[in-house]
Amino acid sequence: MKRFDFLVLGSGIAGLTFALKVAPHGRVAIITKKNRAESNTNYAQGGIAAVTSKEDSFELHVRDTMQAGAGLCKEEVVRTIVQEGPERIAELIELGMKFSEREGPRPNGARELDLGREGGHSKRRILHAKDVTGREIERALLSAIAQRPNIEIFEVSGVLRQVPLRLLRKKRERMEARAA
Ligand SMILES: Cc1cc2nc3c(=O)[nH]c(=O)nc-3n(C[C@H](O)[C@H](O)[C@H](O)COP(=O)(O)OP(=O)(O)OC[C@H]3O[C@@H](n4cnc5c(N)ncnc54)[C@H](O)[C@@H]3O)c2cc1C
Repeated sequence: MKRFDFLVLGSGIAGLTFALKVAPHGRVAIITKKNRAESNTNYAQGGIAAVTSKEDSFELHVRDTMQAGAGLCKEEVVRTIVQEGPERIAELIELGMKFSEREGPRPNGARELDLGREGGHSKRRILHAKDVTGREIERALLSAIAQRPNIEIFEVSGVLRQVPLRLLRKKRERMEARAA
């Protein structure tokens, strides 16, 4: 019987990123619906908002988000997400994600991300991969995972709803019995 240290449900950006982060600490099983790329992540088109330009700042991004959120956003949460954004983007690039870059000659031949500006944003800060950003994220993460022999993906259909929950319940019962 195969044994794993981590069980991840779902193969969108959340599941795949988590699997990659814990992989150095043990064997990882990802259980997902029948096609590993089938996820909301794969269909996301527009892009990811993050502060990556010198003309932009965390304060402006927080302000824009709070305004667009019309009182529904918790500032503390917005601030954390905005401040961690550039690091997460750097991680995605490190894993092989190819964001679109500006075309044409740049000063000193430097490469520059093509930043879009969409509703509610006062600065250009939307990183994208043409208009298939999610598909490119999914491709990059799945290809990074394919290079980690200790991550295995199980594409399951049918009994999917019951199986992971039953496994988790059994595991919890065993842990509770041990702790008692
Ligand atoms: C058309 C569209 C456009 C979008 N555009 C943008 C955008 O421009 N910018 C942006 O930031 N966000 C956008 N989003 C939102 C973004 O795609 C999601 O917020 C993000 O992908 C969520 O990632 P996730 O990993 O949490 O979930 P998902 O990507 O949905 O992954 C969930 C995973 O869980 C699996 N799963 C579901 N149920 C089970 C189960 N019972 N057992 C096992 N596995 C299961 C699924 O098969 C899938 O693999 C868009 C979404 C859509 C649909």
